[in-house]
Amino acid sequence: MAEASPAIEGWFTTGAEPALVGSRCTSCDSTFFPPLRPGTAGFCRNPRCEGEEFTAVELSRRGRVWSYTDAQYQPPPPYIPAVDPYAPFALAAVELPEGIVVLGQVAQGYGVADLAVGREVELVVEVLHTDESGERTIWRWKPVAELGEETDQ
Ligand SMILES: [Zn+2]
Repeated sequence: MAEASPAIEGWFTTGAEPALVGSRCTSCDSTFFPPLRPGTAGFCRNPRCEGEEFTAVELSRRGRVWSYTDAQYQPPPPYIPAVDPYAPFALAAVELPEGIVVLGQVAQGYGVADLAVGREVELVVEVLHTDESGERTIWRWKPVAELGEETDQ
């Protein structure tokens, strides 16, 4: 039995406290996501910076909803449809403290009704689909229960 592995190699860590992996410029400290592919040359996304060296950094696990939508149409890769035919799901753009906005599906069991602009969400890793080599995982955004709010999760 194969182990679960990320659907996209190198974009996030797995384990009890998964995190997205970004690239940080060693010249100006700009951080961005998705990361540069390891071993490939890159240019800093900061137009005023000529840095060409980057280190991999784990991004904050929590951010705030910047925008969200019900995805009524199948998004482009890297979103691989988990079910066929395509079923709509909630998609959230989350702003991290690093100033990066990262798009992702909302965690299983949650929908647009659980989202609001400014709401805190936490990164979780869930199974996206299963192929011949095993389970493939992807990051998702899970709404964090507000203080005093009833939770049945
Ligand atoms: Zn830079």
